[in-house]
Amino acid sequence: MEHRTLARLAAPALALLIALTAGCTGATVQGRPGASGVRDPYFPRAGNGGYEVEHYALDLAYDPADGELHGTAVITARAGQGLSSFNLDFSGLKVEGVEVQGVGARFNRTGNELTVRPAGDLRKGEVFRTRVDYSGRPKAVVDPDGSKEGWITAEGGDYAVGVGEPVGSMGWFPGNHHPGDKATYDITVTVPRGYEAVSNGELRSRRDVGEGRTEFAWRSVEPMASYLATVAVGKFKVTTGKTSSGVSVYQAVAPGEEEASRGVLARVPEMVEWGSATFGPYPFGTVGSIVLPPRSLGYALETQTKPVYPGAPDEDLVLHELAHQWFGDSVSPKTWKDMWLNEGFATYAEWLWAESHGGVSAQRRFEAFLAGDTSVDGHADADWAAFPPASPPDAAHISDDPVYYRGAMVLHRIRQEVGDAKFFDLLRGWAADHRYGNASTADFTAYAERRTGVGLKKVWDVWLYGEGRPKA
Ligand code: ZN
Repeated sequence: MEHRTLARLAAPALALLIALTAGCTGATVQGRPGASGVRDPYFPRAGNGGYEVEHYALDLAYDPADGELHGTAVITARAGQGLSSFNLDFSGLKVEGVEVQGVGARFNRTGNELTVRPAGDLRKGEVFRTRVDYSGRPKAVVDPDGSKEGWITAEGGDYAVGVGEPVGSMGWFPGNHHPGDKATYDITVTVPRGYEAVSNGELRSRRDVGEGRTEFAWRSVEPMASYLATVAVGKFKVTTGKTSSGVSVYQAVAPGEEEASRGVLARVPEMVEWGSATFGPYPFGTVGSIVLPPRSLGYALETQTKPVYPGAPDEDLVLHELAHQWFGDSVSPKTWKDMWLNEGFATYAEWLWAESHGGVSAQRRFEAFLAGDTSVDGHADADWAAFPPASPPDAAHISDDPVYYRGAMVLHRIRQEVGDAKFFDLLRGWAADHRYGNASTADFTAYAERRTGVGLKKVWDVWLYGEGRPKA
């Protein structure tokens, strides 16, 4: 009896002693596998557990003639637990090799998961570098609503573009592809001479690198969710400038779209300044646009600092994508369920822009929508009331009209309850207090009541979460 008790005590004590010794000498670290997803309610396998990325250095060489991409991704991350292995999200392409901390690592692939097993376990808190070399012809990723992301190319190689939202980025670089893990980026792209390569942030250098090729080095110093990363390759016409407060402007337009784009792109600086006055300082050091040929994509996207457009955009669309720089890009959703924090805000920004530029008031628009007349809005087509914006029925509906229009109506209902002064203070406070971070719907509802001092439960119950068609 006695010696059995002793044995029971001795075993854990011995284990503790081994663990302590290992910790002191660094001889053996106890790691376990990182999770293969972060349990997003709509994309459970997106993202990975056990680490957070600090920086991506992507070095890409692309040849539009044959569609081949050669990539090296160096991912600097911090381990959140002891790790015996960890995953990256990656789809298609061939992995040629993986190194962790400069040492060859074993890896295997199943579905969109690239599992990396470093030679030695990683310690909790350790900052480590993973290098992935890869190549092949990247492909489009079809998302649950049928739209295409990933790597989109034209027949004949006129252009290629990498886009993400929601989970397309895994089609062109390995990473922790969930909006909850934001990082800084260096994206360097080498293309044949005559092509431009455009990406997020600031162009640090553009140089000839021999063999008839040009290298473009882009840097994003502010954190970015990976679904907002982009690379566009094409024979773009580039114009540069500055906004009145000194934000640098870089706009790239596909051949044939210059004339139709000129007027609206000329208003980008003014829109950024209007946004700064309305939502607080523009969050990034650069801004711009990438206008692709029409029908290149099925949508425009708020890729950070440089939204992409399929063909010359109209004023509402540019304003919408620029508003996302505050709402979506700087303040990013915690999960894909929080999409209305992106789309409702960007849509309401269009309403605000219109009412402050001689157009119809947000109140008029709200009333018309409520009465079933969405013709005041050139973009709304489906039923805004089909489901509550804070809980789309499934992943195929996170970009549907209720997320945009009923989301905007939620904001208008708040404005009706609290008045203009508190409402605009709320928008600015929200953007400032969550700058470069992530936020959920629950974070927003709590924040709105705290900031305005007004109880808004009825608005949440009826407009944000309630099934059925709100009456008022
Ligand atoms: Zn949007």
